[in-house]
Amino acid sequence: MSKILIIEDEETIADLEKDYLELSDFEVEICNTGDKGLKMALENDVDLIILDLMLPGMDGFEVCRQIREAKNVPILMVSARKDDIDKIRGLGLGADDYMTKPFSPSELVARVKAHLARYERLVGMNAKPQNDIVEIRGIRIDKTARRVYVNGVEKNFTTKEFDLLTFLAENPNHVFTKDELFREIWDMDSIGDIATVTVHIKKIREKIEEDNSNPKYIETIWGVGYRFRV
Ligand code: CA
Repeated sequence: MSKILIIEDEETIADLEKDYLELSDFEVEICNTGDKGLKMALENDVDLIILDLMLPGMDGFEVCRQIREAKNVPILMVSARKDDIDKIRGLGLGADDYMTKPFSPSELVARVKAHLARYERLVGMNAKPQNDIVEIRGIRIDKTARRVYVNGVEKNFTTKEFDLLTFLAENPNHVFTKDELFREIWDMDSIGDIATVTVHIKKIREKIEEDNSNPKYIETIWGVGYRFRV
């Protein structure tokens, strides 16, 4: 259930707003002064704030400014004067919406719902876990999606090619012997040998290097093995 904080000193207005919001299944708290409202907003988990402008204790401008310094919660400001709305806009206090009194309670509920939905979408986007990415000089390996992009262009890799490239890229400047790479990437009982490594390196180079005879990324260390250059 979403929690709405109403900061409003006119009791009849606050009660009316509360009744309508509760009918729409919101949990509502009222504070009747600016300073109490600010304290409540900062110390509690609130999903949206309806903030009156003319308040005892601290005015809505200051309350809005201080909440915004600490939180991204949607703030819907209300005022009896159209001029005030222009002033709120002009000050760039970070309020999400403005309403002039008197407004219909159903209009208020509609706006509250719209802002909550928008805010939840934003929060949801930010909360999405980030993909695990390895990025080196134009090569972008998305380990989560198992995709490789070379200068922004996606290239297709087989499972082992992907594993081998990722392993090398995650251990840059480290020289690995073919034997080490084979043991690292292939199962112990895999059929194959170090020649498999050579074949896979060749395939990977065809996809990531501009010039296979002069590789920029996977370097051959003669007589030893390979290393990923940074
Ligand atoms: Ca007032």
